[in-house]
Amino acid sequence: MAFKIEKRLENSLARVGVIETPHGEVKTPAFIPVGTKATVKAVLPEMMRDLGAQAILSNAYHLYLQPGPDILDKAGGLTKFMNWGGPTFTDSGGFQVLSLGSGYQKILSKEFSGSDRADKVVSGNKERHAYVDDDGVTFRSHISGAKCRFTPEVSMQIQHQLGADIMFAFDELTTLLNSRKYQEKALERTRLWAIRCLREHKNLTIERKDKPYQMLFGVIQGAQYEDLRRKAARDLSSMEVDGQMFDGFGIGGALEKENLGKIARWVSEELPEDKPRHLLGLSEPDDIFAGVEAGADTFDCVNPSRVGRNGALYSPYGRFNITRAQFKDDFNPPVPYCECYTCKNYTASYLNHTLKAKEMIGYTLATIHNEYFTVKLVDKVRESMLNDTYYDFKKEFLDKFYGDKTALEWRASIY
Ligand SMILES: [Zn+2]
Repeated sequence: MAFKIEKRLENSLARVGVIETPHGEVKTPAFIPVGTKATVKAVLPEMMRDLGAQAILSNAYHLYLQPGPDILDKAGGLTKFMNWGGPTFTDSGGFQVLSLGSGYQKILSKEFSGSDRADKVVSGNKERHAYVDDDGVTFRSHISGAKCRFTPEVSMQIQHQLGADIMFAFDELTTLLNSRKYQEKALERTRLWAIRCLREHKNLTIERKDKPYQMLFGVIQGAQYEDLRRKAARDLSSMEVDGQMFDGFGIGGALEKENLGKIARWVSEELPEDKPRHLLGLSEPDDIFAGVEAGADTFDCVNPSRVGRNGALYSPYGRFNITRAQFKDDFNPPVPYCECYTCKNYTASYLNHTLKAKEMIGYTLATIHNEYFTVKLVDKVRESMLNDTYYDFKKEFLDKFYGDKTALEWRASIY
């Protein structure tokens, strides 16, 4: 397992690199599609490979509840279980445990952030199903309603059984609604949990020495506070338990979109150069560019597949909805000039019909297009850094994607 940096972008923290795993390489920057329950919904792993995905990120919480980590362990690990064969990531389950428990959203309105009142709003939620204490989190399964408990040790045991190449340490997720005082408390808890994760990871690595080595990433929290983010990055990057250190880092937690680049930069400035950094849960094009320039190497997000199943397709001129009535008899490709399997072989009319009829193939075709679009965008970012055309590429892409001309106007000017 290694991370090699091939090139750096001038006047930024961006870099081109390669993460080597026992199941193959990930050339970075890279977008990692999400296959929550060991499947990218509606799409075969073979097709994910064909559209350019280098790795898949699955979810420890969901796989723990169903089918259970012992099944994946018996199957020979996540990548074998899902017939993917390539590199895999699992997140620690902390995000889902806490977000499903307290109605958390990734990006929240700024007006509520940072007040004491907000702690009560968040913790006073009647529908709350997750409770945090210093030792771990108790929660109810969203499937069976059974009471479950995650601790740092349990999360490591589950993730070792799942067998992904890259795992994340168990952390406490806060929201922008929490007060500064609560953020400090949660961050200290996450620091102590990180020590326990490293210790358990070390023990399990020795115990399961016949299995391929799994990299463990520490997760940097600290919400919108510069001092907390920098402290968390310093604490976790210098942390060493029985000779075991973190192999890379995740940048997680509550982020205001407009501050994303700034927050990732604070963190990257404190982290070691020679370890990979993953920006958790973001994939919109402007977030990708901001993240790359702030030193993030990999990204994941459910958005491309989720919005695709709802009929929203990405185009160079922004997103549009293929279920609009105007596409009913439009026999052109869904997105002009797109080289994906869907756009090369199927019409806008067919996507319109199958998505409106809620036929499974509609979900498949829309997901293929959106995953291709996002994977290729990050691939092009990588290529442009290698060609010294990054800033030109960025300007051209963002001007179109967020410009005045809509995707529908652009499409109408071609067909
Ligand atoms: Zn396409």
